[in-house]
Amino acid sequence: MNKTEELLENLEQDYKDNIVSIKKTFKKLRKKAPKTFDYFVQEKHDEVFEVIDCLSCGACCKELGPRITDWDIRQMAKGLKMKPAKFTEQYIKMDEDDDFIFNTMPCPFLMPDNYCMIYDHRPKACREYPHTESRRFSKLLHITEENIKICPAAMEVSKAIVKEFGGVPEKIIRTQK
Ligand code: SF4
Ligand code: SF4
Repeated sequence: MNKTEELLENLEQDYKDNIVSIKKTFKKLRKKAPKTFDYFVQEKHDEVFEVIDCLSCGACCKELGPRITDWDIRQMAKGLKMKPAKFTEQYIKMDEDDDFIFNTMPCPFLMPDNYCMIYDHRPKACREYPHTESRRFSKLLHITEENIKICPAAMEVSKAIVKEFGGVPEKIIRTQK
């Protein structure tokens, strides 16, 4: 078992062990995050993805459906040399919030070796997940609390955030400008 598979297998326990401190730290950071916070997260993202290999995981493609835009549909249809209307008919449905999603999960384009069949034309939401590279990660702490149930990389980054910012009293965070 490689490191990614190990982290994935332990994710449920990891979640139980860390959710309280993660929520507490995120709550504090939502009120006021230091200016350096998003840079810190981007650095951790790079470190974590040096160890984690998405091809040994694929959990997001198996368990989460990306929200799909009209632009995404045009891109995916282009990649498959299909008409957007035909692509929509074959692969897309609407969810209860009237958003477009794939009509089957795991994703119809996930191959058995966890490669994405339409990688160069995949939806924007797939490119951005789990958002740990985002320059505005501090605005995405709510969804990260959900993503750590699925994504071992989001969990590792979140644990690093707790280690760095969890023990710092709010007063000190407020004065870090
Ligand atoms: S389109 Fe590709 S990256 Fe996106 S969920 Fe499907 S397999 Fe995963
Ligand atoms: S982004 Fe996260 S959940 Fe998706 S394949 Fe990579 S490690 Fe797994």
